[in-house]
Amino acid sequence: MINDNTQSTAQFLARSFKMVLFFAVIFASLFTMWTPANILSDQPAFWENLTGANADVPVIPTVNPVNQPSRTIGIIVGHWGYDKYGVDDPGAVCTDANGKVTLKEVDVNMRIATFLQQELIQDGFEVDLLEELDPRLKGYHALAVVSVHSDSCGWYGDWATGYQLQAAPNTTHPELTERLASCMRNRYYEGTGLLFLNTTSEHMQQYHAFEKFDPRTPSIIIETGFLLLDQKILVEEPDRIAAAIAAGIRCYAFNETIRTDIESGNEDN
Ligand SMILES: [Zn+2]
Repeated sequence: MINDNTQSTAQFLARSFKMVLFFAVIFASLFTMWTPANILSDQPAFWENLTGANADVPVIPTVNPVNQPSRTIGIIVGHWGYDKYGVDDPGAVCTDANGKVTLKEVDVNMRIATFLQQELIQDGFEVDLLEELDPRLKGYHALAVVSVHSDSCGWYGDWATGYQLQAAPNTTHPELTERLASCMRNRYYEGTGLLFLNTTSEHMQQYHAFEKFDPRTPSIIIETGFLLLDQKILVEEPDRIAAAIAAGIRCYAFNETIRTDIESGNEDN
C-alpha cells in the first residue's frame, strides 16, 4: 500500500508538473506574442480611434471612423511613371548653361517618398507608393493620400520659395480633408522651416488624381518647395522633408493638437 501510495503520489506529481509546464508554455507564448506591434495590429479599437476627437483643443469635428478604411496611406510620387502619352515624365527640371538636365523633380519626389514610406511603416501604417497615373488611383480608398511634388526650377523672383498645398475640393468628408491639410501645413512648417506660399493655382485645385479617388478618401497635394530656391533642403535633406510630412499624417491620423498661432508659417494666417 505504501508503495502504491508512493507510486500514485509520484504519478500525481508528474501529472501536475506536466500540467504546470503546459500552462507555462501557453502563457509564455501568449506573452511573447503580445508585443507593441501586435497591439497595433490586433486591436482594431486603437485604429478605429484614428481621427477620433481626443485632442485638447477644439478641432474640426470628425465623422464615423467606420467609413475610414484600415491604416493605409497612399503616397503619390509626383511624375513617377509615364505621362498620358506613354513618355517618361521627369516633372520640373533644372538645367545647366548648356541645357543639360542637372536635376529632375521626379527624382527629388522619389527620394522624399521613399523616406516617407519608411517612416510611416515604422509608425504601423501600411503604405502604397503610387505612380502619378497609377491605375490604382481610380476608386482608391485609404486613410489619406498625399501627393508629393516639388515646384519649378525657373527663376520667377525671390518670392518663389516655400511650399504650397491644396486639399481635394470635392470629398464626402470635407472636414477630414481640411483637418489633414491643417495638420500638414502646421507640421510641414515646423519640420522644415519652409513658409506656406498661398498661391493656390487652378492647376493644383484641379489636380487630376483628386477626381479619381474614392470620394471618401481625404487627399492633398503638396509642392514641397521650389527646385531653384529651396534646392538645398530638397536635395540634401529629403529625410527631413519626409519626416515633416510623416508628422503631418500622424497629426491627422491620431488627431494631435495643432497650435494655431504657428499653423503654417504664413504670417497672414
Ligand atoms: Zn510636379
